[in-house]
Amino acid sequence: MLTYTYYGKEDFRLADKSIPKLKSETDALVKVTLSSICTSDLHIKHGCVPRAVPGVTVGHEAVGEVVAVGKGVRKVQPGDRVSINVETFCGECWFCQRGYVNNCTSPSGGWALGCRIDGMQAEYVRVPFADTGLTVIPENVTDKQALLAGDILATGYWAAKISEIEKGDDVLIIGAGPTGICCMLCAFLKEPRRVYICDIDQSRLDFVAKHYPDAITLKPEEAAKIAYKECARKGFDRVIEAAGTEESFRLAWEAARPNAVVTVVAMYDSPQTLPLPDMYGKNLTFKTGGVDGCDASEILTLISEGKLDASDLITHTFELSDAPEAYELFASRRDGVMKVALEC
Ligand SMILES: [Zn+2]
Ligand SMILES: [Zn+2]
Repeated sequence: MLTYTYYGKEDFRLADKSIPKLKSETDALVKVTLSSICTSDLHIKHGCVPRAVPGVTVGHEAVGEVVAVGKGVRKVQPGDRVSINVETFCGECWFCQRGYVNNCTSPSGGWALGCRIDGMQAEYVRVPFADTGLTVIPENVTDKQALLAGDILATGYWAAKISEIEKGDDVLIIGAGPTGICCMLCAFLKEPRRVYICDIDQSRLDFVAKHYPDAITLKPEEAAKIAYKECARKGFDRVIEAAGTEESFRLAWEAARPNAVVTVVAMYDSPQTLPLPDMYGKNLTFKTGGVDGCDASEILTLISEGKLDASDLITHTFELSDAPEAYELFASRRDGVMKVALEC
């Protein structure tokens, strides 16, 4: 079968591999119909993910059809159309029981697919812990609508949840890329007073204005000023930082009101500084880290009910055999590209 595989730094290639076999009773084999390219795939390509294993098939967000299941799988069966979760988790350990599935203590727990074990930019993928890793897609939800449920919509949903957004809040999202936009869409589900989104890239703000007119777009340099002028409490009640630069990190806590929650979902290339003397008395709560992707079923239900739809983010679709070209476009950010899907 055809796969897109990581061989080493700056070395991703199309490769022919055999169709995976089930290894455990809790595994499922899924025929991939649509997968996506994520910024994390570019991080692997640039050698920034040390735990990525050379020779691994990349890709950690996809939809497909179950073709085989192990004896211990209860929730899915062959023929089911499913969304595949970015994270592999046992569902039973101390962390999983509390919803912290990113920290699942199973040896294959956390972000394994497309990093430590063969992922989804392939015709078939073996999914460990299939009962927690796969979610059946409701009939009225298309593959394209369901594609982002396993990773970036999961991230947006989790970020909005842990940010404790309440009715009447003013929320700032920093970064209008695909992840920031998913955070924005999920923030709206909490019915805050206003959702603002900022980015240095005007074309990304234009994209938001065109597709999601309820959001207020602004440049980062305007955000702190607007926080003081327009927010009832002289700062944003909730800030979600999804941009990942030194400037965006600083803006996240500067634009927040006293006692705000600042949620950092961005990945940084370098350590960031918390200038605690400058923050003294602001009494902020910081929440950081990687998604606990255990809400796929809620996300797919919201899509099915017409309350959530991120499919406009998928601006380009390529055949899996054109993966090199698709990656080149995704990395270049030209032609208004947001998310790129790969079709099998
Ligand atoms: Zn990702
Ligand atoms: Zn676990």
